[in-house]
Amino acid sequence: KETVTTAANDGSKVPAVAHPLAEESSEIASNIAYHAQYSPHFSPLKFDPEQAYYATAESVRDFLIQRWNETYLHFHKVDPKQTYYLSMEYLQGRALTNAIGNLNIRDAYADALNKLGHELEEIVEQEKDAALGNGGLGRLASCFLDSMATLNLPAWGYGLRYRYGLFRQRISKEGQEEAAEDWLEKFSPWEVVRHDIVYPVRFFGHVEVSPTGFRKWVGGEIIQALAYDVPIPGYKTKNTINLRLWEAKASCEDFNLFQFNGGQYESAAQLHSKAQQICAVLYPGDATENGKILRLKQQFFLCSASLQDIIVRFKERRAEKTALQWSEFPNKVAVQLNDTHPTLAIPELMRLLMDDEGLGWDEAWNVTTRTIAYTNHTVLPEALEKWPQAIMTKLLPRHMEIIEEIDKRFMAMIHSSRTDMESKLPSMRILDSSNPEKPVVRMANLCVVSSHTVNGVAQLHSDILKSELFTDYVSIWPAKFQNKTNGITPRRWLRFCSPELSDIITKWLKTDRWITNLDLLSGLRKFADNEELHSEWAQAKMANKCRLAQYVLHVTGIAIDPNSLFDIQVKRIHEYKRQLLNILGAVYRYKKLKEMSTEERKKMTPRTIMLGGKAFATYTNAKRIVKLVNDVGLVVNNDPEINNYLKVVFIPNYNVSVAEMLIPGSEISQHISTAGMEASGTSNMKFSLNGCLIIGTLDGANVEIREEIGEENFFLFGAQADEVPQLRKEREAGLFKPDPRFEEAKKLIRSGAFGSYDYNPLLDSLEGNTGYGRGDYFLVGHDFPSYIDAQSRVDEAYEDRRRWLKMSILSTAGSGKFSSDRTISQYAKEIWDIKGCPVP
Ligand code: PLP
Repeated sequence: KETVTTAANDGSKVPAVAHPLAEESSEIASNIAYHAQYSPHFSPLKFDPEQAYYATAESVRDFLIQRWNETYLHFHKVDPKQTYYLSMEYLQGRALTNAIGNLNIRDAYADALNKLGHELEEIVEQEKDAALGNGGLGRLASCFLDSMATLNLPAWGYGLRYRYGLFRQRISKEGQEEAAEDWLEKFSPWEVVRHDIVYPVRFFGHVEVSPTGFRKWVGGEIIQALAYDVPIPGYKTKNTINLRLWEAKASCEDFNLFQFNGGQYESAAQLHSKAQQICAVLYPGDATENGKILRLKQQFFLCSASLQDIIVRFKERRAEKTALQWSEFPNKVAVQLNDTHPTLAIPELMRLLMDDEGLGWDEAWNVTTRTIAYTNHTVLPEALEKWPQAIMTKLLPRHMEIIEEIDKRFMAMIHSSRTDMESKLPSMRILDSSNPEKPVVRMANLCVVSSHTVNGVAQLHSDILKSELFTDYVSIWPAKFQNKTNGITPRRWLRFCSPELSDIITKWLKTDRWITNLDLLSGLRKFADNEELHSEWAQAKMANKCRLAQYVLHVTGIAIDPNSLFDIQVKRIHEYKRQLLNILGAVYRYKKLKEMSTEERKKMTPRTIMLGGKAFATYTNAKRIVKLVNDVGLVVNNDPEINNYLKVVFIPNYNVSVAEMLIPGSEISQHISTAGMEASGTSNMKFSLNGCLIIGTLDGANVEIREEIGEENFFLFGAQADEVPQLRKEREAGLFKPDPRFEEAKKLIRSGAFGSYDYNPLLDSLEGNTGYGRGDYFLVGHDFPSYIDAQSRVDEAYEDRRRWLKMSILSTAGSGKFSSDRTISQYAKEIWDIKGCPVP
């Protein structure tokens, strides 16, 4: 550590500034030292791991910026059609390991840090996750960016630069507590602020009509959107694309010096404070009208700033070539909406084209509908966004007019050319006035009507969209609907998070090309019985399990046995994901173990059940589930009779870097949602890729995973999606007869065996006959017996080490389809019509 201070102060020993594209570790070391010295974030005499991290990250960023610039200029010159991915969420996680891995400079950086007295492994741990997302949808967006860059595609992401992201989860005696997640506490070395890229975004105001009938949105408040660019490197390619995140700012003129000097400090800086609210947190509470307005503001802010930016780039590139022709826009621009959150891109693009660029309705509509495509991520009714028309009219008066016009024209089209569909209009319309006191805008309907393509995210989900949610639209526009099964990046989710297993795969396949061509993993199948591979595979798994056990001890104080079966369920806590089924299963296992003799217990497969995930702050039942898991853990883990055979651990603050630790060390993972309710899931793919077996329902991408890895390698249980409606009806008719094992588990919890907290309201949601959230809407009771049976099959299979290892190898071997490179290639070809544009 001394060396650096010396080196940085002594230009003769090590040059103070090394070439930013150096690949020699000594030059990198001096570049890191340079940043430690001259990027003035810390006092100069310190070079502890934290400072070393920031200096290292800035040094890596030099590489990235160089490549970002080259890529930008290349796209500018070639002027290909470019995709813009609009997403309210990006779960980027940490960037350092990923960047040096993708740039293939990991070893050089490890050496350089050694020269400076640090270990790379320790330095990467200093980084805070960029957690600008909530769950799968956000992590998907981040995987997609990695694949877009790796495939050299001309594509960018747009999002918001939240100050605090979602929240940091702490577990106390009361259960989950939320605290602000301060990922920007010091600063992020991975972003570059672009002071020259600023757009005004208007809210409120009114529509002015000129004598010629020209409409213009005026007045209201104007907030500035300032661009922060996060470079996204592709794997072993020069191409480095951009995630542009918008920050909200008020301008200098909005600061009222007169009021401030008069002591009215708050009103003097009112707009500044309003601007700060926009990017303060992801998903602010929306129970109040203010909360709703803030969420809508966030959505519009993202859409408006991004579209203004896209239009400026389109014009810039035209200005150098041909005259401006708006009909060319969809040949140069594809916009993908990641769920309905960025739906306002539709009326905003219409407004910009008509009111600012002077196009007529038909021309603007043609451009908009050829540009925009929509990905649906859910069929859950409560997640299908509906905005009160009153709020929309107040906040975005011009957009509300445009939405009304789209709705009107859609109805006119049905009346004139599809009279057979007239009876369906009430549910197909964009405006829903069925409650005349609270008319709403249905965002998904607006997306379907206005997009050229609508896709689901797994085959089963896309089928359900066509057969249930959007079935009426399918009869009008059958070609509009597609499936794009989700994928994950094999770089972050295998190569970098489990180098041990990756090296084994590379050795047996005799190539590392699987990292960009994941289908090659199928080559492992022929070695699935090979004992040498088995032994290497088991060793790598054990190393990852030991690493995980250390982590668990560190964050929870609970010692877990790496020889037990590691059973993991990590995902957002939601009733449809059925963590409750998991914990009821654990309670049942505990009860059975208690009833056994010591001899009988010794025959049982020891298990460590780990659960993790955040419950949305206002979702009471989800928070009760978190509390229950912790309470069960407290009793089980402290029961000396049992804790050699069963442990139940809640992993706090689940995020991407925690996932990177958990997934490689997992052996069985639970993807047990009520069939038909999980659109895809992506963590199922990550587990499977890492040789972890799945116990799961036929839901989302589980269906395709099972097909790919073979049904004998998947522990299936539960009702199927097409049986669910009938089962709910039977339940409502009082025909459900619960399995005694289910009753036993609930009874033990109700008895107070796991503490005095009142779990009755949570357990009551599993009783009764009717209603959403009551009457066991999620069919925990129905699926419980087959779940317990499937868990017994898991225990049995684990006892046969050779069989288990074979299944594990076949899971990895069958995961090739789930690369986000495959998904993104399909989007590029079948939705966006864009092609690779590699930087020479
Ligand atoms: N949250 C985090 C931090 C993740 O890394 C992932 C996926 O790996 C998810 C949520 C999504 O998990 P699932 O697909 O199980 O819902």
